[in-house]
Amino acid sequence: MAGFKTLDDLSDIAGKVALVRVDLNLPMKDGSASDVTRVEAVRPTILELCERGAKVVLLAHFGRPKGQRHSTLSTSFVQGDVERVLDKEIMFIPEVSGPVVEQAIGILRPGDIGLMDNVRFWPGEEANDAEFAAGIAAHGDFYVNDAFSAAHRAHATTEGLAHQLPAYAGRAMEKELKALDSALGNPEPPVAAVVGGAKVSTKLAVLENLVGKVQHLIIGGGMANTFLAARGVDVGKSLCEHDLTETANSIMDKADHAGCTVHLPYDVVVAKEFEANPPSLRTCNVHEVAEDEMILDIGPMAVEALADVLKTCRTLVWNGPLGAFETEPFDAATAAFAHTAAALTQEGSLISVAGGGDTVAALAHAGVAQDVTYISTAGGAFLEWMEGKELPGVAALA
Ligand code: ADP
Ligand code: MG
Repeated sequence: MAGFKTLDDLSDIAGKVALVRVDLNLPMKDGSASDVTRVEAVRPTILELCERGAKVVLLAHFGRPKGQRHSTLSTSFVQGDVERVLDKEIMFIPEVSGPVVEQAIGILRPGDIGLMDNVRFWPGEEANDAEFAAGIAAHGDFYVNDAFSAAHRAHATTEGLAHQLPAYAGRAMEKELKALDSALGNPEPPVAAVVGGAKVSTKLAVLENLVGKVQHLIIGGGMANTFLAARGVDVGKSLCEHDLTETANSIMDKADHAGCTVHLPYDVVVAKEFEANPPSLRTCNVHEVAEDEMILDIGPMAVEALADVLKTCRTLVWNGPLGAFETEPFDAATAAFAHTAAALTQEGSLISVAGGGDTVAALAHAGVAQDVTYISTAGGAFLEWMEGKELPGVAALA
């Protein structure tokens, strides 16, 4: 992992102005946040800087205003939620540069917090305009990026500012980068990767990257159907991308050459209707799926075999549920595998890192979200990292 500076590299920051990029793009319901996980994630960074006497000025985007002021997309809408989580008052600053900002920062005392308005109100943000970034940078002494979830975007406050001011990773960013590095950057082998979810087409780049890096590639979810079809299995009415069977075969060939074992299920859970506990529910061998049936989960024998594989591994990286986990009982394989991963992690034999919107939900549903090594809630940034891409916001910190 490329070296980056952290808050440990900062000294004598009392009275200095910290420009801190955070993710406050909170899901809203009836005028307040329905989930404050993102605020909780950046709390340690903000409070540490306050305790060390810095004036902390927060930068964030909120929704997609497309370079214009938008009355419903001001970051002032989340001010109250952030104040509640931090248990501190915040001064709202309705600009990102200029005399208003200068005046506001003049009023802040060491340990106080300011919140600038939505950085995406200005077209320079998404254009990563250097002049725009310089205008913001003029108000700060140093820059802290604690928004890994926005690091796949090369925007002024996620990337540009790092070239204008001394740049540091915040505590949440530091934790995320260390976890990701231990999972794929510099992992302890053998490494197992699980790729599940709905479609192969959304995760081709992930699969291509993983086959060269891991010893075991476990394919589940709807994606497994496409791989099974590529191997000549009749998958009936299952979700399957028949136009991608050649691609699936080429991925399996690449895996072979790289010494990566691809694991596909040999038994599956099928039904004729996609509903909870359907009357037609049954478990069968992959070769026995009828033409009017859908594969909705991998089967218990497959899960047992995967547990045995996992027991031989030191590292697990996981994106995508193994079945249609939102509908019972098609959550069974995902839940069972999650429990195995959690138990091995708790015993200390496995480092387990998982990410992806539905994967996070599936682990929470299985009740083991606290028992894996790290869960990334970063969505797009997590997937791009699994694709092996360099994230501009991270690269700029090096
Ligand atoms: P993530 O958000 O973690 O990256 P995806 O969005 O790729 O995951 O995939 C999650 C979705 O895949 C879930 O909604 C789940 O119901 C669906 N899914 C998993 N297995 C199947 C299957 N066999 N048939 C249909 N849908 C499936
Ligand atoms: Mg998803």
